[in-house]
Amino acid sequence: MLSRGAMLTHGMSKHPLLIVKPREGRRARQGAPWLFSNEIVMPAKGLEPGMMVDVKGDDGQVFGSGFFNPKSLIAVRLLGRDLGLAANEKFFTAHLTRAMALRDRLYPRPFYRLVHAEGDGLPGLVIDRFDDVLVLQVTVAGMERALPALLAALNKLIAPKTIVLRNDTPSRALEGLETYVRVEQGTAGRVAVEENGARYFADLGQGQKTGWYYDQRDNRAFIAALAKGQSVLDAYSYTGGFGLLAAKAGAKEVICLDSSEPALKLAEESAAANHASIRAVKADVFEEMERLSAQKETFGVVIADPPPFVKSRKDLEPGAKAYRKLARLAAGITAPGGLLLLASCSHNIPVDRFANECAAGIVKAGRTASLIHSAGAGADHPVHPMLPETAYLKALVYALD
Ligand code: SAH
Repeated sequence: MLSRGAMLTHGMSKHPLLIVKPREGRRARQGAPWLFSNEIVMPAKGLEPGMMVDVKGDDGQVFGSGFFNPKSLIAVRLLGRDLGLAANEKFFTAHLTRAMALRDRLYPRPFYRLVHAEGDGLPGLVIDRFDDVLVLQVTVAGMERALPALLAALNKLIAPKTIVLRNDTPSRALEGLETYVRVEQGTAGRVAVEENGARYFADLGQGQKTGWYYDQRDNRAFIAALAKGQSVLDAYSYTGGFGLLAAKAGAKEVICLDSSEPALKLAEESAAANHASIRAVKADVFEEMERLSAQKETFGVVIADPPPFVKSRKDLEPGAKAYRKLARLAAGITAPGGLLLLASCSHNIPVDRFANECAAGIVKAGRTASLIHSAGAGADHPVHPMLPETAYLKALVYALD
């Protein structure tokens, strides 16, 4: 029996057909690659999470074809504007080739985010590349189903020594997917990362996310170029992305502050490998900043790149307050004439709200400042033009009076 809203075959395509409700799907009509569950006539049953479907309007307009998931608020993630598309090896080869060509124009060495989901036409997929080591993160059911085709395409195109699946993000639950970490081929462990002319270490099996945050590459270079001769506090340093580059650029003194012992250990080892010196301090950032402030210590450059304070939309108010408090504490220990970089990786707080909280915190610290730089993630984190809200990273640099 056919379920309501789903026809099993139509024309040349073998995919089930879903129909968009009358006058719905406004964003998708304008080019966005998502259809929400309330916008389509949901089939009663028969369609499994991750199946390919075709989508048309009730007026016959073709939306395209993509991954379906009845469990997700985003019911369809389009792979393209044609009906009958298949997430096969040919499809992945085409998208990966394009993604790789862009990165190879951008960076001198193969260390970058190779795939950034919808921004590269590959919903639910992130790939970070460390030369011949790839770390994948799959977050939607359709991409999980297509893994064999994706892996075949990667092996033909790049032939990586190691492929690690870091499928342990909590967001997988929204798609009804289990969480797991699997070394698909090769061995996971420590890898070298080359970025901005520095050499870092990342730990792929144990580290956070994919093991390295390529998104801050340009912001690290921006602040490091201004750090010469300065004392630098890199708060929420993780493995020293900002701090090490500042030390290498001639900072007088660099403190990397984080609560993670293994991350700090990697930061120290990376610094040694670059003949640079950093001081690793394991502490809670808020507590340590209060302590430094009580001792009237100040720094010429302060960087604060915390974990997401606004994890979901309902956390907006408490999260915004936490950003304001961090801005207040960080501004309080920035020397007169010093620079303060405040970052947020929460896509649930828009940039203007984040900037407002940062400004309020700086004022609360009794300081005046000007905003000299406002940036997002690097160009290897492309954003689908119709999904501007998926641009999650914000980095604001203030010059304090
Ligand atoms: N700036 C880093 C990325 C930061 S990720 C880079 O450039 O790579 C956020 C970091 O905050 C993680 O390393 C985590 O261990 C640390 N962290 C989380 N909560 C913390 C807290 N309360 N105090 C100190 N560090 C914290």
